[in-house]
Amino acid sequence: MHGRCNLACTYCYLYEGPDSTWRSRPRAAPAEVLDATATRIAEHAGAHRLTALSLVLHGGEPLLAGAGTLARFTALVRDRAPAGCAVHAVVQTNATLLTPQRLTTLADAGIMVGVSLDGGLAAHNARRVDHAGRPSWPAAVRGTRLLAERYPRSYAGVLTVVDPTLDPVEAYESLLALRPPALDLLLPHGNWSAPPPQLAGRRHGEWLCAVFDRWWAAGRRETRVRLFEECVALLLGLPAATESLGLAPFDAVVVETDGSLEQVDSLKSAYEGAARTGLDVFRHTFDDALRHPAVAARQAGTSALAEQCRACPMVAVCGGGHYAHRYRAGHGFRNPSVYCSSLQHFIHHVARRLAEGAVPAVPALREGGTP
Ligand code: SF4
Repeated sequence: MHGRCNLACTYCYLYEGPDSTWRSRPRAAPAEVLDATATRIAEHAGAHRLTALSLVLHGGEPLLAGAGTLARFTALVRDRAPAGCAVHAVVQTNATLLTPQRLTTLADAGIMVGVSLDGGLAAHNARRVDHAGRPSWPAAVRGTRLLAERYPRSYAGVLTVVDPTLDPVEAYESLLALRPPALDLLLPHGNWSAPPPQLAGRRHGEWLCAVFDRWWAAGRRETRVRLFEECVALLLGLPAATESLGLAPFDAVVVETDGSLEQVDSLKSAYEGAARTGLDVFRHTFDDALRHPAVAARQAGTSALAEQCRACPMVAVCGGGHYAHRYRAGHGFRNPSVYCSSLQHFIHHVARRLAEGAVPAVPALREGGTP
């Protein structure tokens, strides 16, 4: 929706990373791009008889496009989508621009609001600063509290990147204070050629385990944590779809502000142009994007993984980790995740907790054969 941000977070993989394609693109998606995008979405939903689709209004900071633009575009997509296809719209924002007026516009348009934060305290968000280096936290917490207190039905949740230098339980509990209905915990983007900060052994895995135990001990009722729920589901053999775990086929496409069709933004953390497909909404369908070799490789399940992953007993749960985290310059993406040891540690830990909590199907027999 908008290709720039009002913040300049020091670790941002989009604007501080190796990819600079954003510089040559329009700041905001022009009307013809939005129009063509709505048409492509409707065409795709019709061709595949979809009963639901997710419309993620992204940036940069999407609210720079104006809440009214987000509302009109969402209405256009709903208008053109075939009958019976639900359009679940969510805007992912840094929360600094949330005001009662904008939140009312978004709520009236049926757009959910997801917030990106690094934790629930000022100190956790010290690296989220504006272009003059001023902290974004006062505005971000004001916006998030407004959302939680006055627009709870619009509150989709909080997305947080794991920072292993923070105390995990303190970080988790500080986020709970913002009453998110759901929490997305993401590992920081990085790869074998540009390792993520603080990558040492299974440090990120240990951090996740500490939060998992806190969440699990509270009976999973305080908030939903997608990574944990999906890890549990995958361990139980249930289908689960996440970018970070599992073998579910990749099913998202990104439309840039100039109408380019790209793979997910996180690939931009690997190298310049990593997300590029050469396709656009004016000349190509979403099915063309699905057939693009780089996207098709991500539909291929285990056969697209590194040999080490294919032989790994955890592959059905781990799935080789996030695609962007597998990259090594000169070798491409057919490698285990740079977080392999952390993922192994975390998945083992969750499996152990599940086994401890499992109720035996048959009561143990006492001596003499009576239950
Ligand atoms: S990344 Fe590591 S834990 Fe995950 S499937 Fe590959 S080898 Fe197994």
